[in-house]
Amino acid sequence: MHKKDIIIFSAPSGSGKTTILKRLFAIYPDLLTFSVSATSRPKRSNEVEGKDYYFLTEQEFRTKIANGDFLEWEEVYNGILYGTLKSEIDRIRANGKIIAFDVDVNGGISIKKLFKSSAVSIFVMPPSIEELQRRLEFRGTESKESIAKRIERSAMELSMSDKFDYTILNDDINLAVAKAKEIIEKELK
Ligand code: 5GP
Repeated sequence: MHKKDIIIFSAPSGSGKTTILKRLFAIYPDLLTFSVSATSRPKRSNEVEGKDYYFLTEQEFRTKIANGDFLEWEEVYNGILYGTLKSEIDRIRANGKIIAFDVDVNGGISIKKLFKSSAVSIFVMPPSIEELQRRLEFRGTESKESIAKRIERSAMELSMSDKFDYTILNDDINLAVAKAKEIIEKELK
């Protein structure tokens, strides 16, 4: 079977996909490399420039769109831009590693369409919208307004889960990571 070299994780905000990805990077440090996205949102206090995101002003972001620097980009929440830089893909492919994406559902669908059978796409399903809200509140990184925007968007995102190759229910983080490992062993290694 042809092995894939791209793994895409998409989910509503608060589903735990970033946590699952961090665990996978610890398990497969030599296999996976994170595709660092660009965003116009402000940096959270626990985030590192160039590691979690490339933090750009909206103006800088829009200049890069105009220059054709993005593989894909989306306005995920009102006025906040997120996108994958083409240079990021070149950087990782040059190292011969598997590229792991943490992108919104539209981005995930676009990247799968671009890379087709080289990519495996995974939707991380939260147990419920109520649980999503609870996790976002517990995380404490978002304002009330930002939580409301994320919850408002989640119904649309959940309705798109069937466009992904796999769905992982994240009810129990250990089980979710185990399921992701199974997919990696089958499709990527
Ligand atoms: P957050 O603000 O919580 O870091 O991310 C919000 C959403 O934007 C998440 O669903 C995340 O996966 C998504 N996102 C991050 N980077 C990208 C990207 O490069 N492209 C797209 N389409 N979405 C992204």
